[in-house]
Amino acid sequence: MISPQALRARTAKARLVLTDIDGVLTGGTIYHFVDTSGELVEFKGMHAQDSIAMAWLAESGLTTGVISGRVSKGMEARLTMLKVKHIYQHRLDKAAVLAEIMAAEKMTKDQIVYIGDDIPDLAAMSRVGLAVAPANARPEVKAAAHWVTKASGGDGAFRELVEVILKSQGLWDALIAKYL
Ligand SMILES: [Mg+2]
Repeated sequence: MISPQALRARTAKARLVLTDIDGVLTGGTIYHFVDTSGELVEFKGMHAQDSIAMAWLAESGLTTGVISGRVSKGMEARLTMLKVKHIYQHRLDKAAVLAEIMAAEKMTKDQIVYIGDDIPDLAAMSRVGLAVAPANARPEVKAAAHWVTKASGGDGAFRELVEVILKSQGLWDALIAKYL
């Protein structure tokens, strides 16, 4: 874990915020149904306070992206509404995806934040300037993170991260003012 001052210094440089989906934007539970045509359908929920924070990042000029090992059409539609630029699903080779996004955005490691909760996230976490884990992350992932949020995935972890980023960049007060 880095100091609060170091956390602010790193989040102040953030231009690209990447996140895992299951266990970070959700609590990790995936619901399975079979539709009338016999197709397996998965669905999961994202907290509204995390959703609005995702949109705030884009509105504040930051780039956002998700890298998930699973596929959810519903999640893709919702993330598109929230102005998420990079949506990679069915990709467990997260370091390779990170490299593609870094090349496309011409960004360096210190401009990138990644938050993930499980072992497949470790490779991406070791290649960014700020690696974050939610409180529910596996012990190996917390150990690899620069910072662990107080909140768990699906219960405000992403929102907690976004607030630190926007505050460290001096964007928080202007955002609040838009709602007054
Ligand atoms: Mg996960």
